[in-house]
Amino acid sequence: MNADTPRAARPADCPCGGAAPNLKANGKPPRYAACCGRFIDDHAVPASALELMRSRYTAYVLGDVAYLRATWAPQTCPADLEVDPAAPDAPRWLGLAVKRHEQTDETHAIVEFVARYKTGGRAFRLHETSRFTRESDGRWRYVEGDVDSR
Ligand SMILES: [Zn+2]
Repeated sequence: MNADTPRAARPADCPCGGAAPNLKANGKPPRYAACCGRFIDDHAVPASALELMRSRYTAYVLGDVAYLRATWAPQTCPADLEVDPAAPDAPRWLGLAVKRHEQTDETHAIVEFVARYKTGGRAFRLHETSRFTRESDGRWRYVEGDVDSR
């Protein structure tokens, strides 16, 4: 994040809820600073595509465009990426559930998840299977996803 950009307030509990495959929904969410805050604010490197995916969900909640860009493969990152959680039509993210995390080889992984959100007073579910690659710098990055619109 640019030093001139005011940082959005950080939540006490992590918005990702510590999402992991088969995690029970009644569990207590982890503290933000001990979960995605390590990656978004403290620049730790996520060890898996799953951790990266969770931190990207949290970055959407916080509107941290710089983090989203830094964790997006340059080939597929949209040039006009804009995320403003304060915009009137912005989705209000309600929660994340991870269905599947599979590392297919050293440098490729997929994460299937359902993210719930509200916009215009209506609730929606985003069901996506995302693909990630680990580049030569050792960092996982988001490539693209298939949205299941059923
Ligand atoms: Zn988190």
